[in-house]
This record gives sequence, structure tokens and C-alpha cells, in this order.
Amino acid sequence: MRADIIMLPGDGIGPEIVAEARKVLERTAVRFGHEFHFQELLIGGCSIDAYGEPLTEETIERCCRADAVLMGAIGGRVGQSLWYELPPERRPEAGLLRLRKSLRLFCNLRPAKLYSELRNACPLRTEIAERGFDVMMVRELTGGIYFGTHSTEELDGELVATDTLCYRESEIRRIARKAFEIAEKREGRLCSVDKANVLASSRLWRRLLTEEAARYPSVRLSHALVDSTSMQLVRDPAQFDVIVTENMFGDILSDEMAEITGSLGMLPSASLREDSFGLYEPSGGSAPDIAGQNVANPLAAILSAAMLLRYSLNLTTEAECIEEAVEEALRRGFRTRDIAERDSAGGQRVLSTSEMGDRIAEQI
Ligand code: NAD
Repeated sequence: MRADIIMLPGDGIGPEIVAEARKVLERTAVRFGHEFHFQELLIGGCSIDAYGEPLTEETIERCCRADAVLMGAIGGRVGQSLWYELPPERRPEAGLLRLRKSLRLFCNLRPAKLYSELRNACPLRTEIAERGFDVMMVRELTGGIYFGTHSTEELDGELVATDTLCYRESEIRRIARKAFEIAEKREGRLCSVDKANVLASSRLWRRLLTEEAARYPSVRLSHALVDSTSMQLVRDPAQFDVIVTENMFGDILSDEMAEITGSLGMLPSASLREDSFGLYEPSGGSAPDIAGQNVANPLAAILSAAMLLRYSLNLTTEAECIEEAVEEALRRGFRTRDIAERDSAGGQRVLSTSEMGDRIAEQI
């Protein structure tokens, strides 16, 4: 296969971790006989420094022409960097929001997996951590309350703020189909999360999810309320395989899910368009506190590259090969500083960012 991949390393640790993801993709291309062409472009603070804006029109166009985009992270020290003296629409974050919008990325995937070797980092009860969990969150990304109308006005002598929450049938059906397709390739259990006891948009959501289920007989669909789901996630996360939900509920639940794994530096993410195009990035930020020291954990970026192969290039075996290489590195006791346990008596070896990338590439 020949594929064009745009790399947007961004700021802080972004360039360090994206370099390792590229190393792993290059090794995977050689191992499986593919031809990946990489092009590095600027986004965020580094783009402001070079071009005066966090994302240029040309960068957007080049991303649109590629098969997939792999990003690092954007932003600097909030309150300290000069980038934050700019008006909000010219700050680093504006570049990322504009990119997601321009590329029409409506489906956000955030896996939350507890690696057995990292159980000690899990903040949940020991017996829950011992069972382990592997949950995929499918979040609708371009609709709902964040994209409604927002206003504050004075009514009867007091301030009244209003945010509207609207979902169209077509928006719900397309995210439902993505979620069913993902569940088909996993354990076939899909839990749709809503607030159908209160919200009209949730009742439509539940009705359409139930209708769509008829097209996917191998998937078992269940429905749950968002408040109960947030409780179940800390009580018994192993009961979930795939969760699908609307924008704001997904925003909140995916952070909760990241936290219960205890290792944010390990979590990849994908944002997909209706075709196979996608933007892939680690869930964490630019970590300015450790930037430039070669100590950041590159595994979230490397696992994001695996998601890129699976969802944009349909290279499942290659994606699994990277994921297995990551698990093997953890099994052998290789850790970056953030995931190294305090007691290193168990044969653990603390590696730098580039050493960890080397280990994964060698394993492939
Ligand atoms: P952060 O995720 O960058 O850092 C939080 C903590 O996690 C820090 O201690 C950091 O050292 C650590 N950390 C994060 N990723 C790590 C990794 N791969 N390896 C080891 N340690 C890691 O969040 P923050 O400090 O709140 O934000 C810093 C900057 O990042 C801000 O400018 C913020 O706006 C930006 N940000 C960007 C994104 C993005 O690009 N999608 C997401 C979140 C925050």
C-alpha cells in the first residue's frame, strides 16, 4: 500500500513523541512492504511563530489531500507563553479546533485500556484493577450543545443564559453506524448512553440507535443513562466493550475513562470523517514542563499511529503488530519516567523517549 501521511508535531513534547511514532510507522512499512510518504507541517504555537497564525489555509488543504494526519500536541505554558496574549481566535488551541472543523471530523474514538503491567497505576479498587478493562468510547464530535446557540440576555431584571442542544437524524444515524461497525470488530457489545428520561434529543437518539441495530445482528445493543454510566465506569468498567454517546456526555465520560486507566500518557485518540480519513493524536497535551528533555512517554503517539493504520488505511494486522510490540515492551519492564513505578525492584528499566521508540521499532 502507498499512503500519504501528514505529521503535525506541534509544540512542547509534540515533536519528540511524533518522531517516535514516525520511527515505528517507518519500521512497520518496511516489515510489511508498504510505502508511507510523510510530510511535516506546523500547527499551534510554532505556526504562530512562523506564519503569525496557528493554522494556515495551505496546511488545511494539504491535510485534506492526505490519507491521514498524525498530530502531537499544541500549546505552551498557559499564562506564561506570549501565545496567550493573543486574542482567543489566534491562540494555539484555535488552530486545532479549526482543523477538526475544516476536516469535518464528527466521530471521536478514545480507547481506555488498563494494561495488566500498569495495574498499580489504576486508582480503582484492587479487585477491579485485577480484572482489567478495555473500553472504546465513540463520541459524536460536531453536534449537540457545543454547536448550538449560546446567548446571555437580561430578562425581568436578571441575567438569563441559554444554550441550545440540537441533533439531526442524519447526525445520529452516522455516528451510530460508526459505533456499530467498531463494535462488530470487537466483542460485539454496544452501550448507547443518553439522558432519555429528560431530553427530547436523547429520546430521538435512543429511537434511532434501536432502529440502526437491525442492520448489525452480531452486535448486542443496550441503553443506559449518563449519570448511571458515570457510576458504573468506576464500579465495574469491564462490563463495557464500546460506548457511544453525544458530544457533551462523551467529553465528560472520556476524561473519566482516561483517569481510571491511571496513565494519560498511554492513551491514543482518533477523530474520523465519514470516509476513512482521520486525525490521530495522543489524549494528553504538550506537557511544557518536560518538553525538550527526551523523557516524555511516546506510547500514546505510537498507539495513535496504530489507530491510523487500523481506521484510515484498514491495515489491521499492522496495527495489531504495533499494539503487541507496546504490550511486549511493558511486559519486559520498559517504562518511561511517567509510568515507572516508584519501587523499581521488579526489574523495570526507565527509558528515554527515543529509547522507548527504538524498543517498539525493534520489536516490530
Ligand atoms: P498536559 O497533558 O500537557 O500535561 C499534564 C501533565 O501530564 C504534565 O505533568 C505532563 O508532564 C504530563 N504528561 C502529559 N503527556 C505526557 C507524556 N506523553 N509523557 C509524560 N508525561 C506527560 O496538560 P496541561 O499541562 O494542562 O497543558 C499543557 C498545554 O497543552 C496547554 O497549552 C494546553 O492548552 C495544551 N493541551 C493541548 C492538547 C492538545 O494538543 N490536544 C490537549 C490538552 C492540553
